[in-house]
Amino acid sequence: MTLQLCWFRNDLRVADNTALLQALQKGPTVAIYIATPGQWLLHDDAPIKRDFWKRNLQQLKGQLEKLDIPLCFFQVADYQEIPSLLQRVMTGWKIGALHCNTEYPLNERLRDAAVERLCQNKGINFFAYEDQCLLPPDLTLTADDRPFKVFTPFASKARAMLEIFGTKSASGRPTKRNGPSFSTTLKALPGQIQLEEIDWPAAELHWQTLWPAGEKEAHKRLQHFLTSKVQGYKVNRDIPAVDGTSTLSAYLNSGVISIRSCWNLTQDAGHHQSVQSWRNELLWRDFYKYVMYHYPHVCKNQAWNERYSGIPWRRDESDFQAWANGTTGFPLVDAAMRQLKQTGWMHNRLRMVVAMFLSKNLLIDWRWGERWFMQQLIDGDFSANNGGWQWSASTGTDAAPYFRIFNPIRQSERFDPQGIFIKTYIPELQNETAKTIHDPARLLGDYVKPCVDLRFSRERALAAFGATRA
Ligand code: FAD
Repeated sequence: MTLQLCWFRNDLRVADNTALLQALQKGPTVAIYIATPGQWLLHDDAPIKRDFWKRNLQQLKGQLEKLDIPLCFFQVADYQEIPSLLQRVMTGWKIGALHCNTEYPLNERLRDAAVERLCQNKGINFFAYEDQCLLPPDLTLTADDRPFKVFTPFASKARAMLEIFGTKSASGRPTKRNGPSFSTTLKALPGQIQLEEIDWPAAELHWQTLWPAGEKEAHKRLQHFLTSKVQGYKVNRDIPAVDGTSTLSAYLNSGVISIRSCWNLTQDAGHHQSVQSWRNELLWRDFYKYVMYHYPHVCKNQAWNERYSGIPWRRDESDFQAWANGTTGFPLVDAAMRQLKQTGWMHNRLRMVVAMFLSKNLLIDWRWGERWFMQQLIDGDFSANNGGWQWSASTGTDAAPYFRIFNPIRQSERFDPQGIFIKTYIPELQNETAKTIHDPARLLGDYVKPCVDLRFSRERALAAFGATRA
């Protein structure tokens, strides 16, 4: 029986992992993780996210050892170097087949196409499995076989298909293979390193308290969400001061939990509107991966909607810094940006508020904001981040219309009426009341002066966007 190679990327789990299960069914398996620090920098992967990968890989290694599967580590600069590394590895271990779960961003697709060609040339089987979405992006098409551009019809079709076919679950946890153990006798290859030898970023202590690693933690969060939070989700999901969402995004994006587990377990949570509303968010996740797959120009720094490619964005470094550091003078915007810096995560309502503020009120290129988010987020994911930014900047598919501009003061009054969230992140506003805390003009104490006039900036954005339609 030939040796199988299971290549882990952003699917850092043992349970319900299609590539791992398939590899194990075919024969004794060795697992590999290839670190690419140069690529991480190119992709703006945040230090907090890279540290999360490291901690999850530690856990994954332990889980795989129990199954007699060694997890071996290598490091190259970037994706360009992966085919030649894999060639050495597969020759060194006499690998018969390579198994991995498909990734959809453009660079990852090009990388995998090069690896597939290499395998073909060497007579090694290459298996890439659909594992990351509820439905593979090729499956959900319009009646005339085109990709959808709008979320609602996409979601209706996807729901109908999931109703009929269900999610193609990889069927549970793998078990240890019978036969002699080989993990301790596998010969080490040149270039093989320990997990700790990879170029990881310096970690901050509170990261692991906020975001514990491991499949157990991810499933604990899912269970807690389904038993204690999901019933109130429809309302609470908009209130940043309430811990009302699942906080699973980092675990989903690193593949510590499968999307199928999330979808299937909601089956038992009933048909409550809130359950449907959460499932809808899981479908948004699929949708943005789908958009990236069918419209790969979004991976090249381009607006989805070409009409908006000529917006005269302001290149104002000082306004951008005020936004990034949470010193715009608008309390809700500032609190949100400080939440991002301190925790590596931001509430969804606030992501929309700050993204609109940057791209509309400050008229700064949404790509600056997209990049800043990636550099800070523990759940940074190209498709969801790009989709969220292009939605807010009105340049995306099924985006907010350009004349819909959130007013950060109204958003604050509506979604943080008592100012509880604001006070959590801006202690200098502790003494403000529910009446004074939202509007810079009403603040009682000293605070940074607003960096822009809302009425003027709204008119400026309408003119800039409107001109592209003339
Ligand atoms: P829940 O409300 O519990 O939702 C469950 C899951 O559904 C999430 O974990 C996520 O996987 C998915 N989901 C929810 N909302 C969305 C959405 N709007 N789009 C796509 N998937 C969604 N999400 C990321 O995972 N990574 C990002 O880099 C990212 N950047 C964003 C940038 C902007 C400007 C905006 C507006 C949204 C962004 N989102 C991103 C989507 C959303 O804000 C987060 O997924 C959500 O806040 C994560 O918290 P949660 O796990 O508690 O979500």
